[in-house]
Amino acid sequence: MFRRISCKSLMLLALPLSTLVGAQDFKPVEMIVHPVSGNVSYIEGSGGNMGLFIGDDGVFLIDDQYAPLTGKIVAAIGKLTDKPVRFLINTHMHPDHTGGNENFGKLGATIFGHDNVRIQMALSDYAEEPPLVTFSEDIRFHINGDTVHVFKTPDAHTNGDSFIRFMAANVIHTGDVYRTTTYPYIDVANGGSFLGTIKALDLLIEVSDSKTRIIPGHGVVSNVAEVRAVRDMLLIIRDRVITSIAAGMTLEQTQKAGLTAEYDPRWASATRIGSPEELLRAAYADLSP
Ligand SMILES: [Zn+2]
Repeated sequence: MFRRISCKSLMLLALPLSTLVGAQDFKPVEMIVHPVSGNVSYIEGSGGNMGLFIGDDGVFLIDDQYAPLTGKIVAAIGKLTDKPVRFLINTHMHPDHTGGNENFGKLGATIFGHDNVRIQMALSDYAEEPPLVTFSEDIRFHINGDTVHVFKTPDAHTNGDSFIRFMAANVIHTGDVYRTTTYPYIDVANGGSFLGTIKALDLLIEVSDSKTRIIPGHGVVSNVAEVRAVRDMLLIIRDRVITSIAAGMTLEQTQKAGLTAEYDPRWASATRIGSPEELLRAAYADLSP
């Protein structure tokens, strides 16, 4: 979810990547495994929630947080199974979801992601290792007694977001298209879209039922009723921004008009990512004629 320092600026600074990532102290980070359904869990550490699916065919991992955390992640998985991480899928490109790619690749995992994850990581000059295998629409894994359907969402958080749906376990990992912590963050520079986020949540609602356990990119396990409430909030905000633009208001005026006031206590982040200002900026850009 973080904009990262480019390779070029890294070279200019002549510092190893670990030094800069190390500005965040990973030592106190603990990996907490939260069981979700059957053999599907999610791992909370620092960065995006990882999905974990274990079984006889091997470990299937969704996202891998930051490179310095790989050892802790491997140790947490090792308490549950002696099988290696065989498949790893990136829900999208951001470094708090892809930072461990290089490490897990060296440990033997094959890393998958949407075509745009790889393309956009190159365009944005990311230092992280991109997925090795990419797909344009969807891909299915037939492992550990379940079918895992990975499919591209409409451009939402970025232009390379996927949902990961465990068909028998009835669990969906949403990446950062959906989060329970703050407003959606829309990375417009990497192809994200406010209106696309609404469409992606529509799709999530469509493929879920009342029992589906939904693992967000950040936050805690959720359900379709909660997703619907977020989608409905975005529809209301959309309509208010349309009215604001029709009245000739600038972006700055729109951001100061209190359009999200009743939602801010629950959803506003204190930082730029997940803030109402950024949400309104993305909405304004999409809805401007
Ligand atoms: Zn993200």
